[in-house]
Amino acid sequence: MTVKIAVTGAAGRMGKILIEAVSLNPNAELSAAIERAESPALGLDAGEQAGLGKNGVLIVDDIQQVINDFDVLIDFTAPAATVANAKACAAAGKKMIIGTTGCTDADKAEIATAAGQSAICMATNFSTGVNLCFKLAKEAAAILGDDYGVEIVEAHHRHKVDAPSGTALSLGEAVAEGHGRQLKEVAVYSREGQVGARTEHEIGFATIRGGDVVGDHTVMYMADGERVEISHKASSRMSFGRGAIRAAVWVAAKDAGLFDMQDVLGFK
Ligand code: NAD
Repeated sequence: MTVKIAVTGAAGRMGKILIEAVSLNPNAELSAAIERAESPALGLDAGEQAGLGKNGVLIVDDIQQVINDFDVLIDFTAPAATVANAKACAAAGKKMIIGTTGCTDADKAEIATAAGQSAICMATNFSTGVNLCFKLAKEAAAILGDDYGVEIVEAHHRHKVDAPSGTALSLGEAVAEGHGRQLKEVAVYSREGQVGARTEHEIGFATIRGGDVVGDHTVMYMADGERVEISHKASSRMSFGRGAIRAAVWVAAKDAGLFDMQDVLGFK
């Protein structure tokens, strides 16, 4: 069965990549494309504006206009739009892939409620390599334990609006889980001035923004005399795009529930 895909945020950096990634997957086809009401891309051919040939799918501004045309909505937009789309998809029994980062706990609670009606796969990072790093980060934390202080460094392009990145936070959660703690109890998101010496359990985050960096993440486990680093560098957004389409084909066969890329890859 070919899975019919709608991409919202179709004119965004990830939206264009997702449209290309759908065209490369034999198990999926693009059947709808959506953008915000003020977008200059409205009415354009989704394939052509993504730098591909025409695919006959015109970009619309209202999900209800195309709600019967797809099986899975892929949403890499912004938190408010994503929560509204999750409600619309749940009401219509449509499955969803969520790549949007920067969602609050309240946003996540609304997404979880929607997933109770119709399956959602949500991940801060859809690359296979990064998901392997999530698994390794947790295992390394459990093995190395509290003798190794953990710091997470990430770098992204100058347009990114949320910090630290969703991926860095997920790496932090994986480390905290490996230590048997909650990230919110040990996270340190900034240091400036006389902040005092590093405390034993803290997980520190450092954020770099600039240029066209697609996404670099390093988890450092530091002890007296040695340092272990788990590092990932994305050189193309296609790593996220390919993973998201793989997840869309996977989630199309689920009824309800909130899943992530670790489920899709069979890491759980
Ligand atoms: P972008 O700003 O280039 O694209 C976002 C697009 O969403 C824009 O075209 C915007 O017009 C559109 N949009 C906003 N509100 C909308 C609405 N209500 N309806 C329809 N379209 C709407 O940003 P980007 O770099 O493509 O990133 C988008 C999101 O995806 C960010 O949260 C980013 O952190 C995240 N992201 C996640 C992954 C992952 O693997 N999970 C990878 C890369 C980026």
